[in-house]
Amino acid sequence: MEREVSRIKEEFVVKLSMINNREDIEKLKIEYLGRKGKITLLLRKLGTLSLEERPKIGQLLNQTKREIEERLESRIEEIEKTERDKRLKEEGIDITLPGKRLDRGDLHPLSLVLRQVEEIFFSLGFKLEEGPEVELDYYNFEALNIPKDHPARDDQDSFYINKEILLRTHTSPVEIRVMEKQQPPIRMIALGKCYRRDATDSTHSPMFHQIEGLAVDENITFGDLKGVLTFFVQRMFGEERKVRFRPGYFPFTEPSAEVDVSCLLCQGKGCKACGYSGWLEIMGAGMTDPAVFKMVGYDAEKYTGFAFGMGAERIAMLRYGIDDIRLFFENDLRFLKQF
Ligand SMILES: [Zn+2]
Repeated sequence: MEREVSRIKEEFVVKLSMINNREDIEKLKIEYLGRKGKITLLLRKLGTLSLEERPKIGQLLNQTKREIEERLESRIEEIEKTERDKRLKEEGIDITLPGKRLDRGDLHPLSLVLRQVEEIFFSLGFKLEEGPEVELDYYNFEALNIPKDHPARDDQDSFYINKEILLRTHTSPVEIRVMEKQQPPIRMIALGKCYRRDATDSTHSPMFHQIEGLAVDENITFGDLKGVLTFFVQRMFGEERKVRFRPGYFPFTEPSAEVDVSCLLCQGKGCKACGYSGWLEIMGAGMTDPAVFKMVGYDAEKYTGFAFGMGAERIAMLRYGIDDIRLFFENDLRFLKQF
């Protein structure tokens, strides 16, 4: 009996080694371990053995059965692995190819410019302030010395929500909101979206970003305004840039100035971009009108201040040589990836 068991086992090992698919493994399993399998039949014969032989042969048979089961299992695993490898090869997956690269986000050119503006003014002790984009007519116009029938309102064709509420046309209302809450000294900037009913073209967009600044204290002069803005321009566009202040008009500053920078393309010699003047206009500025101080309850005899405002898109266009404002909002990755 012992010899028969070992013969069956050897025979099984040989047969197993010749099999390379799962169906044949199943057949082999039935041949040895099935209801009428070779090992099963021997186990049934145990009862015919003598009492001395029975435990020994029983143990041998059980051990052989377990061994056959294990070998069958591991052979199935081998076959599955071979099939998997074969399938991978046929499907042509080359695992040495580099993986798909995930697109990483970049900062929008406007965000880059706004961050740079923040850094420059933070270095001068200015603080960032915020205000709502949906604004009251009072803050957007009235408190900035632009009453209801003022012609300056025509320059800023507005999106009104109702008679008293509109989308802010500039960031200047943030100045009023800050001054209402705080006493001087004040050094603040405000950055954000503004809205005007402008037809879209290469230099106009109904939504744009403005950069606003305000300083209020005792003894602030036009010299301080010139110093701060010259520092800003040279940090933003290069130390070699010249700055020019021309008389201008804004309802909320007196005196007011238009600020020009020497042309970045022709270095001031005159070219098409600067209209052969050698200068590019970049912002408006001026000394805060005492009428505005009265609106917020500041003592206009004691305090003076200056304010400035510029378009972030204009600054970014000059900084990066972009010639169409629409590029900022089309979200074409080929454009946005260049910065
Ligand atoms: Zn030029």
